[in-house]
Amino acid sequence: MKLLIPGPVTTRPEVRAAMDADFAPWDPDFRPLYAEVRARLAALAGHVLATHAVLPLQGAGHFAVEAAIRTLVPPEGGLLIPMVGNYAARMARLAREVGRRVVELPVSPVAPADAAAVGTALAADPTLSHVGFVYSETSSGIVHDVHAVGAAARGAGRRMLVDAVSAFGALPLDLSAQPEIDAAVFTANKCLEGVPGLAYVIARIDALRGAEGRAGSWSLDLADIFLAGERDGWGGFRFTPPAQVLAALRRALQLLADEGGPPARLARYRANARTLHEGMQAIGLTPYLASAVQGPIGVNVHAPADPAWSLENFVTALKARGFLISNFYNTARPSFRVGCIGAITPDDMDRFVAAVDAALQAMGVRDRGPDCQDRAASSG
Ligand SMILES: *Cc1c(COP(=O)(O)O)cnc(C)c1O
Repeated sequence: MKLLIPGPVTTRPEVRAAMDADFAPWDPDFRPLYAEVRARLAALAGHVLATHAVLPLQGAGHFAVEAAIRTLVPPEGGLLIPMVGNYAARMARLAREVGRRVVELPVSPVAPADAAAVGTALAADPTLSHVGFVYSETSSGIVHDVHAVGAAARGAGRRMLVDAVSAFGALPLDLSAQPEIDAAVFTANKCLEGVPGLAYVIARIDALRGAEGRAGSWSLDLADIFLAGERDGWGGFRFTPPAQVLAALRRALQLLADEGGPPARLARYRANARTLHEGMQAIGLTPYLASAVQGPIGVNVHAPADPAWSLENFVTALKARGFLISNFYNTARPSFRVGCIGAITPDDMDRFVAAVDAALQAMGVRDRGPDCQDRAASSG
């Protein structure tokens, strides 16, 4: 079975095999494993070990986004969030739930965020301390310009938190060249092609030093994770780590290096997305985005207008053909979503296009033109 969801992704057998052991996290054999992952991640982020801390957090990406907001956005500050899609909305909710002020900047759902509008919004409200930015918006499939928006934040003298969850490991991110970024957040199970259960925040040490006692949560306090690392050495966790997940991530990071690093991985994902985007059109379906704005992480496709269409039946029919896609959509109009990331190739995408064609025929879907009625998304 191939998982064509943009996380958790299809993994390589070597990655899953790395979990086939028991670990005592305090054991001297485990500590180098943790240290190797830390060094590789810092290198991927722009060789930032001197200026940034690589902070692991057990659990999902949301936990790490919340931890970054709690720790780095002061209660008297606030977040400007360009509303690029579902994950931006989730960041806004996380911030509000912890009592931080949020200003939402509207953004078109089918085009990249406008950096000039970010600059204007910051100029209008000097109390906004941070920009909360989703680099690759997984729900829409659009990659936003982290350099241009970062430059706008820097020009306005503000800080930035970047949700790089579906970007890190493939799309370029050089924290040494973007000093306005206080923290970048990602997980093991997207472009790094590890398994789920572990998130990371790479944060500026100068920002962490000023943030002690601010988080209002011990579990989600990045400053405390940083202090524990400084105090006890960077080979341990405060609480029980998902050791097998970490072992799998080490193997996945070695495989990323073997592949040729993020540029090679991005090229493969782009080829996957292109094969899918073109393949859907070749069988009469309509991708949601124009190819000029289609990112490499996932492709949304308009649901066919035919009354025989049912997303649930379609997902089941594809599963019988060896592919699992998301069983919900996040777009205004009905769609289905296909992930292009993970241990998959353009050949897999060709086979997937054939499976879609066969599934639609089996379902009796004749009219493959887009269903363009506006409806609420099927999942918030
Ligand atoms: C997957 C993802 C997350 C985190 O999701 P979790 O389910 O919490 O791991 C956050 N932001 C983006 C853009 C994502 O794609």
